[in-house]
Amino acid sequence: MQLLKDRIRKDGKIKSGDVLKVDSFLNHQMDIKLFVEIGKEFKRRFADEEVNKILTIEASGIGIACIVAQYFDVPVVFAKKSKTKNIAGDVYTTQVESFTHGRTYDVMVSREFLGAGDKVLLIDDFLANGKALEGLAAIVRDSGAELVGAGIVIEKGFQPGGDHLRSEGIRVESLAIVESMDEATGTICFRGDR
Ligand code: 5GP
Repeated sequence: MQLLKDRIRKDGKIKSGDVLKVDSFLNHQMDIKLFVEIGKEFKRRFADEEVNKILTIEASGIGIACIVAQYFDVPVVFAKKSKTKNIAGDVYTTQVESFTHGRTYDVMVSREFLGAGDKVLLIDDFLANGKALEGLAAIVRDSGAELVGAGIVIEKGFQPGGDHLRSEGIRVESLAIVESMDEATGTICFRGDR
């Protein structure tokens, strides 16, 4: 998605540890006009699929998922990062290792909001090692719902998550795939650039 790639080149900041900061438009301050275009693009890419629920993970996926959901006309469920262990049995839980925080936490979704018969599209801001998406996919599997695919705003193609999830047969649609980024020069190369 050219608009997004241009914006990443203009406002993205490359940090150490293979982190791309997009705080000024995606996951701290949010550019809603850009989100609207992102929503339309996911709808176009998944136009052939039946979706009745969008699942994301708190916190930074929520804003994007809400705008995307308007184009699918479906509710958004977000997996909560729970601080308390041994939650009652009315939730699906899994563990996710955080790329940005380097620790593992429990995430949960109430059984009330996901189950057999649901056709679920996952939405998230970034795909790096794939742990967040794997966790969400595990919750969908546990619930008996059908996983339609995953819509990612920025995939870092030099990290293994995308290839791994695709090799498991999950349809992953990423709007911008960063092939490489160089902190010293500030250069970002996208897949399909050359
Ligand atoms: P994964 O689980 O695929 O390793 O990482 C995905 C999660 O980590 C995303 O939900 C996102 O919040 C965060 N993340 C991964 N890489 C980056 C990055 O380069 N920049 C930012 N801002 N967040 C990232």
